[in-house]
Amino acid sequence: MKIHNFSAGPSILPAEVFQEASQAVIDFNNTGLSLLEMSHRSKEFDAVLKEALQLVAELLHLPENYKPIFVSGGASTQFALVPMNLLKEDGKAAYLNTGTWSDKAIKEAKALGNVDVIASSKEDNYTHIPKNYQVPKDASYLHLTTNNTVFGTQFRKIPATSVPIVADMSSDIFSYDLDIDKFGLIYAGAQKNMGPAGTTLVIVREDLLGKVDRHIPSMFDYRTHIKKNSAFNTPPVFPIYVSMLNLRWVKKTGGVKAMEKRSIRRSELIYGEIDRNPLFHGTTAKEDRSRMNATFVLNKDYESLENDFLEVCKNAGISGIKGHRSVGGFRASMYNALPLESVEVLVDVMRDLEANKG
Ligand SMILES: *Cc1c(COP(=O)(O)O)cnc(C)c1O
Repeated sequence: MKIHNFSAGPSILPAEVFQEASQAVIDFNNTGLSLLEMSHRSKEFDAVLKEALQLVAELLHLPENYKPIFVSGGASTQFALVPMNLLKEDGKAAYLNTGTWSDKAIKEAKALGNVDVIASSKEDNYTHIPKNYQVPKDASYLHLTTNNTVFGTQFRKIPATSVPIVADMSSDIFSYDLDIDKFGLIYAGAQKNMGPAGTTLVIVREDLLGKVDRHIPSMFDYRTHIKKNSAFNTPPVFPIYVSMLNLRWVKKTGGVKAMEKRSIRRSELIYGEIDRNPLFHGTTAKEDRSRMNATFVLNKDYESLENDFLEVCKNAGISGIKGHRSVGGFRASMYNALPLESVEVLVDVMRDLEANKG
């Protein structure tokens, strides 16, 4: 049976990427060696790393002074490395708290310096993106999470501010065109929209580095990885390779503009059904709805149908639809590789449940 993978992460990648990746494990480019047993300093892997970084720069239209690097450790590691590299000892950083991941980023930053949480939707269980706030002009940066994977909200508009924005884009990078000038630093764990777990992409405007006095261990200093082209130590070779294959696929499919069109079609389809179907409702403010993670629940009168719904989903090949434990209900994660057809299957199942509600 065909599986429709709505997993929030690690998440779906194109089938052809899995095919090629599995071949590389057995015999990489007819070298007679597996990619997993070859030197990260070989000319073969060097070409992979170069192409992966080049595809990042090309797909996101990065100017020369924005440096992409692949590092090990997750997006969660960046929660600490960002303030370590950018937050001056006597300075402060502004944070927007829009979900679990922002909250964790705030906690890590507080251990390293002054943190000003300028707006938060925590008291409303993160059902919306705060709108009215002032960004202090003397902040080293403004940190935000562009897409809130757990709660299903997304910034439709990046705030206008002269302060460099640091963005956790783990779950929506490569899904729309960026106005890169607004950003000082972007980071994204690979396993939502770029590749398998095990590497994190960081993109940093180079002039922001080197401004802090604290000692930064070499591995935690972004300058180390920029200078050594992401190969200071042994990089996570396989996640970088599979990310490269996926970025090739993104390029071939039309780039991030095409990804954005696909995500609009998928999200309009699912939200249209959530709003139409009397059994369900969405859990977030309509204007802040995420195009990547649609969160929804059964209406009060129909809550007893939860297990039935999960069962019919399973029978239709729908996987990964159960909501995060902090929200409950359901979450349809619709990353770049998810075909529209999978959303159509989900919508059909929602309609069937309505027709057969007994
Ligand atoms: C999943 C996720 C993280 C955590 O990523 P790890 O790589 O597991 O540390 C951080 N931020 C966002 C927005 C996420 O979706």
